Formats: sequence, C-alpha cells, structure tokens
Amino acid sequence: MYDLAIIGAGVIGSALAYTLSAYDLRILLIEKENDVAMGASRANTALIHAGFDPLSESLMGQLNVEGMRRCYELCRELDVEHRNTGAMVLAFSKEEEETLEVLFQRGLANGCRGLEIISGQAAREKEPHLSGEVFAALWAPEAGVINPWEFTLAMAEVAVRNGAELRLNTEVTGLAREGTVWRIETGGEDRGIRARFLVNAAGVESDRIHNMAAPPAFQILPTRGQYYLLDRTVGPLVHSILFNTPTRAGKGVTVSPTIHDNFLIGPDSEIICDRTDTGVTRSALDEIARLARRIIPSLDVRASIRNFAGVRANSCHNDFFIDMAAEGFLDLAAIKSPGLTAAPAIARLARDLLEEAGLSMTKKEKWTGGRKVVRFKEIPEAERETFIRDHPLYGRVICRCEAITEGEIVAAMQREIPPVSVDRMKRRAGTGMGRCQGGFCGPRVLEIMARETGRDPLEIEEDGRGSYILTGRTKE
Ligand SMILES: Cc1cc2nc3c(=O)[nH]c(=O)nc-3n(C[C@H](O)[C@H](O)[C@H](O)COP(=O)(O)OP(=O)(O)OC[C@H]3O[C@@H](n4cnc5c(N)ncnc54)[C@H](O)[C@@H]3O)c2cc1C
Repeated sequence: MYDLAIIGAGVIGSALAYTLSAYDLRILLIEKENDVAMGASRANTALIHAGFDPLSESLMGQLNVEGMRRCYELCRELDVEHRNTGAMVLAFSKEEEETLEVLFQRGLANGCRGLEIISGQAAREKEPHLSGEVFAALWAPEAGVINPWEFTLAMAEVAVRNGAELRLNTEVTGLAREGTVWRIETGGEDRGIRARFLVNAAGVESDRIHNMAAPPAFQILPTRGQYYLLDRTVGPLVHSILFNTPTRAGKGVTVSPTIHDNFLIGPDSEIICDRTDTGVTRSALDEIARLARRIIPSLDVRASIRNFAGVRANSCHNDFFIDMAAEGFLDLAAIKSPGLTAAPAIARLARDLLEEAGLSMTKKEKWTGGRKVVRFKEIPEAERETFIRDHPLYGRVICRCEAITEGEIVAAMQREIPPVSVDRMKRRAGTGMGRCQGGFCGPRVLEIMARETGRDPLEIEEDGRGSYILTGRTKE
C-alpha cells in the first residue's frame, strides 16, 4: 500500500515526486511509457517564461513567477542545462505597442522584475538581425531557456534516489474507491495498486483520468504545436527569446536559442482529435517560417535539422485545473504553457493541498538532494588530458557533432533511471542532438547500450515501446 500514487511522469508528476520525496511517505510514480518526460514535457519550446503573459487572476498567473524563480534554483542544484537569455515581445504597430503596455502592467502585477518597454532601435541593438519593422519591444530579463527533459529527469532521479518508486510501461486503465483507499487498475499483471492518495498528472490524458475518479469537470482540447530546429551553423541568429505580440490564439511563433546553441522556430497552434498526433505538416511549417521571417527577415529554414511537434493539454477553462476533485484525489490537470516553468510552484501548491486533505508530512531524517553531470565539452582544455588519463572512456568521442564521449554514455547508464532506448540516451547524454541527428553515432550508441546492459542489440529500441531498430542478424 502506498501513501501516494502519482499518475504521469512528466515534469508535473516528477516535480511532485521530487518535492514529496523529502517526506516520510511511500510514493509511487506511474508512467505508461518507457521513460519519464515522454509527453508534452519532451516536446515544447523549452522556455522559462518570465511571467508577464498569463492573467493575474489565473492559476497560471499566480504560479508562473514563483515557478520561474524556483526553476533557476533547481537547475543550479540539479545541474540541469539552462541559460538566462531574457525575452522580447515585439510590436510591429502602434496597436501592438498598446498590448505591450498591458503585458508590462500584468507582468508587474504577477511579480516580474526588470521589465522595460524599449524602442525598436534599442531592440535591434540587442538583436542585430531583428526586422527593421519592429516598432517597440517589451524586454523581460528573467526569461530563459532550459533542457526540459533533463529538468524532468533530474527531479525524478532525486525522487527515486530518496525512495520513490517509478513504475514505467504501466498504464492506468481504471480507478476505484475502496473505503479510504484508491485501487488503481493497470493493463499489466498488477491486479490493482493501492494508495491512500492519488494525483492525476496525466497531461493530455488528464480529463480521462479525472473522469475515472470524479464527475466530468473539464475537457482537454489537445492542441498541437509544430517546430523547426535550426542548426547552429546559421551563426548567432538570436541571443534572446523573441515573441510576436500574443493574440487570443496564444503566444504565437517564437524564435529562440536552445541550450545547445541551435535555434527553435515555432510553435503554431492547432486543435487536433488524436491526442497522440505529433506529426508535422508542410502547410503549418510554411506558415511558421513566414511568421518567423517577420521577426528575423534573413532567417533561412534550409538550416533545419529536425521538425517536431508537441501536444498541449489546453482545456475549456483556459487555465490549469488544480483541485481536490474527490476524497484523496488531486487533479494537477490541463497543465498547458507555462506548465514547464510553473512545475516547481505547482508541486509546492500540490504539497499544501495534500497536507490540508490529511496526508501527513513528516520530513525524512535523511534526504539526499543535488546532482552532478560530467559534460566533457565543458571541461577546460587544460584539464582534459588529466581527466582522460583518470577516466579513459572520456577520451573516445562517440557523437562527433556534439562531442559526446563514451564516458558520458556509460555514466548515463549508471544513473538512478537508466535510458532504455537510443532516443532516451539522446535526452540524457546529448548524443544525436547535433547536425546529423544520430545518423553517425546512433549505431555506436546502440552497441554501447547493449554491451553495458547485457541486452541483445535486437531488443534496443529507437524511442517508444516497440520502435526496434534492428530486425535480425545477417551473420552469426
Ligand atoms: C508545443 C508546446 C510548447 C510549450 N512550451 C512551453 C514553454 O516554452 N515553457 C513552459 O513553461 N511550458 C511550455 N509548454 C507547456 C509544458 O510543456 C507543459 O505544461 C508540461 O510539460 C506539462 O507537463 P505534464 O507533466 O502535465 O504533462 P506531460 O509531460 O504530458 O506528462 C504526462 C504523462 O502522463 C502519462 N500518462 C498519461 N496517461 C497515463 C495513464 N493512463 N497511465 C500512466 N501514465 C499516463 C504520459 O505518458 C505522460 O508522460 C509547452 C507545451 C507544448 C505542447
């Protein structure tokens, strides 16, 4: 019997598991996929939002700034890749300039610091490639970029290190209240998992999970956003995050640097029927390129190394849905943007709500936080030789585009939540993140993963369950 079960190991479920792992609780984190961060937490714009966009009276407005500040702290504590770049919202007309003033006032009310409305000329001094048509801009120095899957993974790793149990490949198919306990049905062998408290952090599936426990209260409107990822060879295109002025449809297309010095262009916003549809379309990508060229006229999407899409858990309420919806049942549902940024604040709020609902919070005597990752390319040149002498595997570069060594791949295999697929290694060590997108290093990564785990190479998947890479042996 668990004190608490969390359904969904995205950034929200992982942030809550991390927060509650400091208390004397038996925690279970249940995830239907083969790793953490397999939903919206892996495919998004990866921005730490400053907090000027959401309405102050919304939960999004109340949790964004707290989450943003805690995000930076956690990135430092957990050695998560991030950069405080600042962001600009661009106005191309007098009318859009008026919207900047609204965002400025809202940002102040939400607790943002350092906001400024600057002239088009001042904006171009910060960003030389910016369109000459930009009239004015809202400068938000607290915004930044983050590695979203590393953020999720780092919190889940610390939770597991401190006793939380992570059950992957386990889909919740039904919930039943038995006295004071929840029985959780999963498709697999488990004939029901029992927990006193249950948290719904199931992303785009959160309305379905909610409906298993309580009367319908909200509906998810899955909303796809597509992207271009441009290679860093285009040069220093932008230094900060550039937004068009938002409209009712959302924050609009963004041009931003990534933590790996590439550039992300997107997303659009399209309500879809199939919640799992992360396909991309020519027409949407063309429109994204057109809107991005409005910001940076010289932008050339031929430098694209990947297109991808993520699905937002937008809902009919246009806000996060956070509520004790039934006895012992907490919804952390419909967590759309800025959910990545707000995750630590959502976890703090969830902790308070669970305590109010009767979950006893006694701090553990011993809790081991922190996390350190060796990134070979960050080791100063002068120290590399000595480091390689002591750790020879770091002397073999496996991913040439990103300069990732065998040592980093093996280290990722030895962490609390080892990767099971080549793509999951990419999310941890960074192999295949660069220009060739794994074309060269993929087979070598597969070999090392098979060697380190003793698994048959035929069993190693590219990404999700069943995505096998090799189909058979040609020679014995
Ligand atoms: C296109 C796009 C751009 C975005 N950009 C930003 C941004 O720049 N900054 C920002 O702050 N936010 C951004 N967001 C929002 C942010 O990504 C999300 O708010 C956040 O990732 C939501 O996390 P989550 O844990 O609720 O959902 P998810 O990450 O989707 O996790 C839910 C998990 O639940 C699992 N699950 C579902 N059903 C079941 C079941 N029955 N049994 C077991 N497990 C189940 C899923 O497999 C999944 O892993 C963006 C989102 C999108 C889609």
